[in-house]
Amino acid sequence: MRKNIVAGNWKMNNDLAQTQALITDLKAQTKTTNAEVMVAPTFTNLYSAYEALKETDIEVVAQNMHFAENGAYTGEISAAMLKSVGIKTVILGHSERREYFNETDELLAKKVDAALANDMRVIFCFGEELADRKSGNHEQVVEDQIKNALFHLKSWDYKNIVLAYEPVWAIGTGETATPEQAQDMHAHIRKTIADHYGYDTANSVSILYGGSVKPNNAQEIFGKPDVDGGLIGGASLKAEDFFAIVNAF
Ligand code: 13P
Repeated sequence: MRKNIVAGNWKMNNDLAQTQALITDLKAQTKTTNAEVMVAPTFTNLYSAYEALKETDIEVVAQNMHFAENGAYTGEISAAMLKSVGIKTVILGHSERREYFNETDELLAKKVDAALANDMRVIFCFGEELADRKSGNHEQVVEDQIKNALFHLKSWDYKNIVLAYEPVWAIGTGETATPEQAQDMHAHIRKTIADHYGYDTANSVSILYGGSVKPNNAQEIFGKPDVDGGLIGGASLKAEDFFAIVNAF
């Protein structure tokens, strides 16, 4: 059975003191469901967050990494470095990485390979832009993103892959995909995986929705059969709101 997951992507927010305060607030919250919970602080706060949360069932994950093991890549962080501070999961392919840092499907395929080669789990993000949806091209765009970055993998690699559908037009805009739009796309994503790898693999992969998930809409979105959780931006920066979403399962 696939897992329900709710992950908070803190993006480039919170310095050390703010991160520690948020973690203190998170520890005061009660989880009432079976969803796996993750938070993704910025790089400088990963180790202290890991230390502060390692006795809890909140996993600390990274927002990005480089594909090389080490070397002359000024400013970059490798999988081995993340693992050395306790991090076992990495978000790859976020639309902000694609848009502002020119991350392509080809580059992301290399990053995915590097993460898997280091026994890390990947939360792989993708999603269409507003123009794609308006032109009716959204399913094809998403299908291509998945095929280009992931279809060289073997079916057994998917035990370490989590998919995250994040329509760009819904990120940070307050405009959420309707639960029906999310379900339609998630079903299409699962079928895309099934057509290539079979339904055993497709049914075992968790597919998260991201884009303006809030306490007041999480339950309806998570209630859809192919939505296995959420990747939460803005609402993950307040412990109470984040746990209201976690507890929406
Ligand atoms: P918001 O929840 O702020 O829309 O961000 C979603 C997101 O990008 C999570 O990765």
